[in-house]
Amino acid sequence: GAETISLNNVSKSYGDHSVYRGLNLVLMRGDRVALVGPNGAGKTTMLKILAGVLPFEEGERKTGHNVVTAYYAQHLLELLNPSNTLIEELQQAAPEESVQNLRHTLGGFLFSGEDVQKPISVLSGGEKARVALAKLLLQRSNLLFMDEPTNHLDIASREILTDALSDYRGSICLITHDRTLIRQVANKIIEVNNGQPTIFPGNYDSYLYQKQVETTKGSTSLTANREA
Ligand code: ADP
Repeated sequence: GAETISLNNVSKSYGDHSVYRGLNLVLMRGDRVALVGPNGAGKTTMLKILAGVLPFEEGERKTGHNVVTAYYAQHLLELLNPSNTLIEELQQAAPEESVQNLRHTLGGFLFSGEDVQKPISVLSGGEKARVALAKLLLQRSNLLFMDEPTNHLDIASREILTDALSDYRGSICLITHDRTLIRQVANKIIEVNNGQPTIFPGNYDSYLYQKQVETTKGSTSLTANREA
């Protein structure tokens, strides 16, 4: 597969706190990556650098030929125009789409009939998240970055999102606490630890299995050392 995006020798600090030094990473077409790792490891920082929304001090970010990125995070909820109706919000995002298509898209995110004439201002957090996701998926992207897309979503909406991402034709790189979403979407896991990414090809269960094998090996060699 062709490269969709690469980071070469990227360094990123916040003030004097260095998060990445000499970071190299390549994502390929067809990759559906979940970024995992402990809190504070640098997942969001990496995702924002990949998405092109966070400046860094050194190195370069290169996107492949014809790659169109999109980025979803909670900030998109605040970017909705409260005085727009749902249908107006989508029309402004995708003026080339027919009203029928936009209604169909909103229907897919559980807004039907009269709902589409509601103003954004009356929506709950979960409903805003659904509108923002509908807007995002209307964009003609082929490399999608998402930071905690299931925040605010109830179970039905999570299922819709999971299905939408399974149907998405492009590449995906996401951060989520939702293991069901990781299991259904990811075909590659990138674990971030101490500013270092480790790539595990395969799905989440294969990642967990490899981690378990590592742990077992670790404890076996400890036992062996003790016995020696
Ligand atoms: P993760 O997403 O894995 O929890 P982050 O990328 O959010 O990790 O954060 C990595 C490190 O950078 C953490 O130590 C965090 O406190 C720090 N950090 C993140 N954003 C900022 C910021 N805007 N200013 C200062 N430090 C930050």
